[in-house]
Amino acid sequence: MKKKIIGILALLVLTACGGSETPKKEVSDTKGSKEKKEMTIFLHSMNRIVYKTDWPVAKELEKATGVTLKGVAPESATNTKEAFNLMMVSGDLPDIVQYEETLTDVNKYGMQGAFMPLNDLIDKYAPDIKKAVIDNPDIKRFITAPDGKIYGIPYVVADLKTAQGWMIRQDWLDKLGLKTPTTVDELHDVLVAFRDRDPNGNGLKDEIPFMSRNRSGWEMLKLVNLFGSRMSGSERTFIDFYEKDGKVRHAWVEPEFKYGVQQVAKWYKEKLIDPEVFTRGGKGREVLFGANQAGMTRDWFASTLALNGLFKEKIPGFNLVSIAPPKDVNGKQWDESRRAKVQASGWAISAKNKDPKRTIEYMNYVFTPEGSRMVNFGVEGTDYIMKDGKPVFTDKVLKNTMAPVDYLRSIGAQIQIGFKQDADYERGMTTPDVIKAMNDYEQYIIDDFTRGALSVEEQKVYDKNWPAISNYMQERVQKWILGSEELNDKTWDDYLAKLNSMGFQEVMKVMQAAQERAEKK
Ligand code: CA
Repeated sequence: MKKKIIGILALLVLTACGGSETPKKEVSDTKGSKEKKEMTIFLHSMNRIVYKTDWPVAKELEKATGVTLKGVAPESATNTKEAFNLMMVSGDLPDIVQYEETLTDVNKYGMQGAFMPLNDLIDKYAPDIKKAVIDNPDIKRFITAPDGKIYGIPYVVADLKTAQGWMIRQDWLDKLGLKTPTTVDELHDVLVAFRDRDPNGNGLKDEIPFMSRNRSGWEMLKLVNLFGSRMSGSERTFIDFYEKDGKVRHAWVEPEFKYGVQQVAKWYKEKLIDPEVFTRGGKGREVLFGANQAGMTRDWFASTLALNGLFKEKIPGFNLVSIAPPKDVNGKQWDESRRAKVQASGWAISAKNKDPKRTIEYMNYVFTPEGSRMVNFGVEGTDYIMKDGKPVFTDKVLKNTMAPVDYLRSIGAQIQIGFKQDADYERGMTTPDVIKAMNDYEQYIIDDFTRGALSVEEQKVYDKNWPAISNYMQERVQKWILGSEELNDKTWDDYLAKLNSMGFQEVMKVMQAAQERAEKK
């Protein structure tokens, strides 16, 4: 089967090379020529969205570029990754292939010849993509395949640093006469007071001082930051690697992490942390704050601060506010939750595409100011108006029966194609106090880890070992936090030995090799 696929791919490459024109040196009109052109596209997103030629945004793009796209992804498919894999295995690729979280596969198939290398095309015909993607070293490194080529135009995330952070019940602090905690020790005292002094005033000791519902509760473990340890190198990947002094590292084997987990386990035992933190589920935030039981959390700012509007009538005085990260045990103030700059999603040009120039011009158009407004905000006059040179959403978006982002996706905007998400899109849906909270937080955020592409061989080592290692890490650390096993020198050494027996060192080696290669390019 595999041989057959490679055979087909090789054939596709030959056909493409034979049919492609020699690119001429010319100044490209970023809108492309308006001569009519039809192309096919595979677009399957979020397990439910397939490309529609009559999306209002698709029609606007068609008016501007003359290009009509026809979707080929099956309407009946309900699993985006599966639909993508099936199409790739069939070898029958449309002109454009959108992908979601599968950049590694796109690079692999690209190196086998199924997708066109885009470096020269971007250089010649896509100045706006060049500016947003190639000229940004982190993004370029992230998308470059192990052979040094680029096969996909990425989804570049809005330029906002702030992701998740600390939030606390200001009305509880006021009621107990407490100040905003500024150090890890002050935070401990505040949480003890929340536990013991009945801030919800019902006469019961029913308060849950700290809760977190995200990542199945694991966001709570960012408490180790306050004890001087990293938790994850990036927001993009769950318990990611990080880089220090040119070396790829993983926090979960370091002494600082051991100390941090010991302290978190202590807080858990003291009932400062939600006893059901790992099983509370995604709605836990609404449940515990809505029951007037939770005092503090760590989560996304916009959706969490929105609880103020939701509960202001039910819980008089309810006032959840963001606070700066408390100083850690070393006196440092920092936060490692940095919004990803780029996702492993975007779109690629298949090798059999007969008009790569026109295609890359179309792709470039969504990076121009006017094209970017379409894919970010929708249709001018209907979904947004221009005010003082900036797009402002209309009530059609803000007061729709659907959530704003769901409405935008239903018209073909904010879809995970290769585009640059505009920070004003998020600001436009958020209240000024949330924007202020997010802006104030930015100064504390440290840089995240942007991993270099693994070669096919390295990826095999990673895939063979890492999922089991990562699961084992979580299993063991969870035991220590919940107190079903004590974390001491003996259990820690046993844990490290077990990780090594599972291939931890081999994975670190391939990560380091990939990183060094990526940094040389
Ligand atoms: Ca109480």
